[in-house]
Parts: sequence; C-alpha cells; structure tokens
Amino acid sequence: MFEGQLPPLLKAALDPVSEARTGALGMGPWDPAWELGEQPHARVRAYPAGKLALFDGARPTGVSIPIVAYVVRVGDLTLTVDSGLSERWRGTTGEPLAEQGPAPGMRYRPLLDGPSFAESLDAEGIRPDRALCTHLHLDHAGGVRALGLPVATSAEELAVALDPAVAGYPRQDLQGLEFAPIVLDRGPVGPFPRHARVAPGLLALDTAGHTPGSISFLACLGTSWALLCGDAVYPVADQPDSAAFLGMLRIRRALAEVGGTLVLPGHDTAVLRACAGGAWLGSDAPAEG
Ligand SMILES: [Zn+2]
Repeated sequence: MFEGQLPPLLKAALDPVSEARTGALGMGPWDPAWELGEQPHARVRAYPAGKLALFDGARPTGVSIPIVAYVVRVGDLTLTVDSGLSERWRGTTGEPLAEQGPAPGMRYRPLLDGPSFAESLDAEGIRPDRALCTHLHLDHAGGVRALGLPVATSAEELAVALDPAVAGYPRQDLQGLEFAPIVLDRGPVGPFPRHARVAPGLLALDTAGHTPGSISFLACLGTSWALLCGDAVYPVADQPDSAAFLGMLRIRRALAEVGGTLVLPGHDTAVLRACAGGAWLGSDAPAEG
C-alpha cells in the first residue's frame, strides 16, 4: 500500500510557537469524516498534467515541479480534482511568469510537454461526471475547459478568482466557463472550520490560506483516508503568521489526530510514481473501464 510522501512542512518539527498554535486550534467533531467509512469507498488515481519549470531570475535551472491532477471514483461517480495546465502552455518557451517562485529570485514557467489531463483521460476512455478544483490557479484549473464540465470549487474561491481587481488568476482559462459553487455550509470537521458534502463518500473541507477560498477533498479509501489538498501544504516556510501557514497547520493537526491519512497534494512525484502504469490507490483490483 502506497503511504505517500509528506510535504516537508508536514513532517519537519516546527518552531515552538507554531507547534503551540497547532495544538490550540479549535476542534470540531470528526463524525462527518467517520461517516465516509460507511459510504462507498473511493479509489484515486494521479495523472501528470504539466510542470512548472524553475528559473533563477531569467535563467532556466533545468529543474521542474510536477503538476498533478486526480481522478476519484466513488460509487457510480467519476470526479476529477484539479486539472493541470491548459493547452496554451504546450511546448512553450520564453520568459517565466512574473510571480515569485518557491525561493527569493526564483520564478516559474508553466510547460505542457506531455499529454494534457483531458488527453490522458480520453486515451483511457474515462469520462468524468464532475470537475472539482481545490483552487483556481492556472496549474489547477487550466485544464478544466478541455474536460467540458462546469468548474466546481468553493464559492469564496469563485468570488476572488472572478474579481478582475484580484491578481494571480488565469482570466484566459476561466473566461466563459460554467461554474458550480461549493457552499461550505456545514460545521467543523476536526481542525477544519467548515465542510460540505460534495458527493456520497466525498467531503470538501475548508483549508483556506493558499488562496482565500482553497479547499481540500476528503475520501475514505477503505484502509485510510485520502486528503486531496492542492497547494494547502506549501505555505512559504518563513511566514508563520500567514493564512497559508494556518491552513497547513490545520492539515498537520488532522494528521496528528488520525494517523495514516494519505496526503495527496498538487505537486508531488511520489504519487505519480505510485500511479504510473495505471495503478489506483485504494483498491487492489484494477478499475473497470
Ligand atoms: Zn499549484
């Protein structure tokens, strides 16, 4: 069984102030999560959906960060979580984006140099029923148009992403799409302040911080939970007072409370290796067509 590879901030010891904040987080009941265990168990598969080429200033470093999109099957439903890059990044060359990369002076350039997420699904005859997104940055929502489905994400994320005054969202990718807001109108689950049931066997959890409306999805694989969390586990490490850091602390607390939870983030090589060749997480049997 694939146990995942925890992102650095989830496994490293934190400073005493952050540890104390983690311990002091308000905790709600876990009941909505336990109930997942009684519903149809999910299977999850990860797909490469582009990459972020890293630049040191204007110079390509040759290093890139993978972009992961997921398919979740639960009951009769096939759902996608995030969707990778749009076709407009196919084989692109040129300048990196203006936004700051993972370290001072570093920048990214999105690059689609393999099949898009939609092409990978097409090739396998997988036709998703719904397209969910953890948030609407270009490396998570860019591929939704090609899936031909409305984009389901939190109502807060939609409000921010569609506000022309807010920078950092790919207007080009989002323009003219249909949207299906997920309203987190139910109470806390463990350290997560709000939740919604998006499908039988699948919860959306409030993990705001990376963006104001970032959410994660929790499913039960039968032997463990899977938390599909987008970029909620990658706050800037030296900004412990940021909203993004708090979102990450909520996930740390959840892991401390419920051991063995599989963290499935938006940029991860281990989960791609685990699913290479068509393997599904959460089932020993191959998924039927
Ligand atoms: Zn991302």
